[in-house]
Amino acid sequence: MRWSRTNESWALRTVHLKWPALFFLLIGMLALSAAPAERHLSVYSTAATYSVPIEQLDGRDYVGLFELLDPLGTVNVRSDPPRWRIHYNNVLAEFVVGRSRARIQGRDADLTGRFLLDSGRGVVPVDSLSSLLPRLLGGPATLHEASGRLFIGSIGTHFTATVSPGDPSRLVFHFTAPVNPTVATEPGKIHLTFRHEPVTAPASPRLTFNSKSISSAEYSEGDGAAEITVSSTIPLIANFSPDGQMITLSPARSQVAANSAQTSTPTPGHAPPEPAAAKAPTETHSFPPAAQPAASSVASIPRKYFAIVDASHGGQDRGEALSRTLTEKDITVAFARRLRQELESRGISTLVLRDSDASLSLDDRAYYANNAHPAVYIALHAASNGQGVRLYTSMLPYATGDDEGPFRQWNTAQSSAIPLSQATAVSVASELKKLQIPVRTLTAPLRPLNNVLTVAIAVEVAPPASDVSALTAPDYQQLIAGAVANGIVNIRSQLGAAP
Ligand SMILES: [Zn+2]
Repeated sequence: MRWSRTNESWALRTVHLKWPALFFLLIGMLALSAAPAERHLSVYSTAATYSVPIEQLDGRDYVGLFELLDPLGTVNVRSDPPRWRIHYNNVLAEFVVGRSRARIQGRDADLTGRFLLDSGRGVVPVDSLSSLLPRLLGGPATLHEASGRLFIGSIGTHFTATVSPGDPSRLVFHFTAPVNPTVATEPGKIHLTFRHEPVTAPASPRLTFNSKSISSAEYSEGDGAAEITVSSTIPLIANFSPDGQMITLSPARSQVAANSAQTSTPTPGHAPPEPAAAKAPTETHSFPPAAQPAASSVASIPRKYFAIVDASHGGQDRGEALSRTLTEKDITVAFARRLRQELESRGISTLVLRDSDASLSLDDRAYYANNAHPAVYIALHAASNGQGVRLYTSMLPYATGDDEGPFRQWNTAQSSAIPLSQATAVSVASELKKLQIPVRTLTAPLRPLNNVLTVAIAVEVAPPASDVSALTAPDYQQLIAGAVANGIVNIRSQLGAAP
């Protein structure tokens, strides 16, 4: 897989994560079925943000080493009890069940507790990670043990909070990277909870403001998340900037009037009303009128294809070299054709966006997808690392309302489809799980998903085991294409109802 962000004029050459040369920011793993009582370790790195379950064994906290390392690089495990070996990229670590010492690259390492096998999975004490990971990864790792957060490399999202000079009832947060917290309110307080972002503490955990209505903001960590709690004398509401780097808290009352004028519930089959005066686009890219017809005509456009399946890469862009002879661009076309077959056999009309070795830019792909007005857009990638399937949705913050004119900003086109895109990923994931195919659901700041107006997911297929050639096996392709198609069918009525 190679995601490119050509708008930012850099392209990622590889995402196969040769630590520490990681450019790629993946934010957020969606907890698919986490029971509330389950505890997790949130892991933040430039390669991926995800969480792994914490288990109580031997009276202390343990995590599985494979699950922890798998999103970061190429991992292979050989279990030969009592011996257990794991290869992370080119580093070999050897463990023995019941022993509290391991060997990493032939040198002793202290585990602080016994290495254990838990249903065949090699697990290590959480508090051993501070010393274990730097040696495995070849770089720093910082564990916030009490709050269940692990920072790999020098990663961190910092923030400032300032009261607006012109209006002391508004508090503005600036973040060094996009964030997408959950927002909860209680009388006198608003909580912003960051589970998927490596938000780190400001110099002082308690910030006070010279404002009658907003007295303070307090930073805390716990349960795999960072939290900012703002105390105020008036009810506040949070607004997110389209780039996700700014959050403005302002009095709720003044928002109510504006919001009720703007939002109304769309009835199925009818497009939501658009605000009369569309905001002029500030980006250089905006949808040509043909791609984004006026709201009144949206519902009347016949939908020619329900699904668009986009075989990523193509032409000069070969994607990942999966092996000496296997390139990603060929695998994605093969998968795309099979997925079309599986979707169409379930009554879902499907267009394959790249059905040849053509080269298509990311902008072109988004443009075609938006023009064709499908109910769902599915980008396909293939990878040699990891196992099974990774499902991605855009990490843009969910936004409705003020950016919904006939010209919607190109870079944030996906933002109002986020909830349904995530529901689609979850639906597909559950079908893959039924077939025991390892699956992860992640969000990433990736194109062209960000530029697609409709529900959009990316499906990245890795081999079932370490043998890359299995990606070409018809059985394997069929299995995954069938599961993806079932996932789409299961959420079909919701997708079809979306404007
Ligand atoms: Zn790719």
